[in-house]
Amino acid sequence: MTQELAKSALKKYFGYDDFRPLQLKIIEGVFRGEDGIVLMPTGGGKSMCFQIPAVTMTGTVVVVSPLISLMKDQVDGLRAVGIRAAYLNSSQTGTESLAVETAYESGELHLLYVSPEKLLSQGFFTFLKRRKICLFAIDEAHCISAWGHDFRPEYTRLKGLKTAFPETPVLALTATADRLTRKDMAEQLGIPSAEQHISSFNRPNLSLAVRPGLKRREQIINFLRERPNEAGIVYCLSRKQTEKMADNLRAAGYNAEAYHAGLPAARRAEVQSDFINDKTLIVCATIAFGMGIDKSNVRWVIHYTLPKNLENYYQEIGRAGRDGAKADTLLFYSYNDYLTLKDMISGNPNSELQVAKLDRMKEYAESMACRRRILLNYFSEDHAEDCGNCDVCANPPERFDGTILAQKALSAVARLKESVGAGMAIDVLRGSARADLRSRGYDQVKTYGAGRDISAFDWNQYFNQLISLGYLYVAHEDYNKVKLTPAARRVLFEKETVELVKMTTIKKRREAAGAKTRKFAETKRENMSLFDKLRQVRKDLAREFGIPPY
Ligand code: ADP
Ligand code: MG
Ligand code: ZN
Repeated sequence: MTQELAKSALKKYFGYDDFRPLQLKIIEGVFRGEDGIVLMPTGGGKSMCFQIPAVTMTGTVVVVSPLISLMKDQVDGLRAVGIRAAYLNSSQTGTESLAVETAYESGELHLLYVSPEKLLSQGFFTFLKRRKICLFAIDEAHCISAWGHDFRPEYTRLKGLKTAFPETPVLALTATADRLTRKDMAEQLGIPSAEQHISSFNRPNLSLAVRPGLKRREQIINFLRERPNEAGIVYCLSRKQTEKMADNLRAAGYNAEAYHAGLPAARRAEVQSDFINDKTLIVCATIAFGMGIDKSNVRWVIHYTLPKNLENYYQEIGRAGRDGAKADTLLFYSYNDYLTLKDMISGNPNSELQVAKLDRMKEYAESMACRRRILLNYFSEDHAEDCGNCDVCANPPERFDGTILAQKALSAVARLKESVGAGMAIDVLRGSARADLRSRGYDQVKTYGAGRDISAFDWNQYFNQLISLGYLYVAHEDYNKVKLTPAARRVLFEKETVELVKMTTIKKRREAAGAKTRKFAETKRENMSLFDKLRQVRKDLAREFGIPPY
């Protein structure tokens, strides 16, 4: 019955015949008054999950969104199809907001969009309580979590919402949140046991490739030569770098512009609209570019340097191929990029977590497992197949049946009750004589010494592979302990086999990629004084991005 109601509203207001996967399930949850967490890619149709309840349930849906600039467009769009929607935020005049408040109080509104500041302003809850609210929808909900990548401090005050409106269901929606961010989101919003609706993030039409960051400009020109007249984005780390890249590309005859937050607003708007209207083919941009840009025919995305984490990376490559047609992505990686970012991050609040996330980004770039498997496993999709559309799948390294090895590792983790980090688990496997290991009784667990034949270095690599392949995950919020995934249980109890890359292959590839210089860079840095270290960072930045040393 409720299904039919929802479906007929979908047809009546939006003209669509069918819901996309998960939409109906989410809407039915709202009908039952349940809280929920929605993780769906951008363009996946999150809005529908609160718009349908708005037009079918008694009362108003209050939508909290930090994207004030998009509110007006959204509301105009809804009004055009006969949905009574309005918004309240700081951009309005007193008369305008008064009119909206009156409409709300008289019970006319299906939907009321508000900024978090407005929602939390003095007396606003009391005002809202004058009418029935059937749902709070928190859009871009990852902003509430300091674990997330776009933290907005004002969002944390949304904690009070569930206390003030205990009867009203809360739906938190986001396109980007790893397991930890989702957990934090749910806790902060006071809905810790809300059902999590996670739709697939797989974008099979995007090819994934990582290349060593040598002669990047030449590599980019070669890449573009094979793709005449295709629109694309080159993501850069610094403002300077975007301008330099755009200059370089223009000099090589390409139609390219720079975009970064340091440009005047009018210029930014111009670059953005020229790109959308196919007047500018290539934009060289910092991560400031892309939020809310809806352009379906972006054919490629290049990362000139390593992104800070996999969330950012996935969002940025996700701007390619929205039309579903084939699109290519290319990430340049050098160990120096990693060190530079690590130094940049290390002064930040929350830097430990950010470094852990950066490490995952680096492992992705260095990995020899199917890249899509790594990405999807990172977002907690149990993805057990190689994709066939990434550089690793195209040129697979030599593998062996690592099932027994994996079983040893996974059962060690299980027997240690998932309460230690990878280093400790490896020491147990190697039968280490560490004193603290004995004092905790870990020398008594059954897997103690079961992996003596493999070096600690090699075990470390195998653990990384098991994480990449989705058999283990790292609980960053819990002292980086390694834990088992459902896939691990299949290996332990259901005879799932595991293919691993041989260490000899890894070592060979490492050497080819300059492992020596890397080792050198590492020890050199460790021995530096703080002052020297800072100077080195500046030098690195200067060399890498062509910024004059200061
Ligand atoms: P998100 O907020 O997840 O990025 P939107 O809610 O803005 O995505 O929806 C993206 C597009 O998908 C919109 O144009 C919307 O009309 C469309 N859409 C949503 N649900 C459906 C559906 N069931 N069938 C067809 N199109 C849909
Ligand atoms: Mg949206
Ligand atoms: Zn692959």
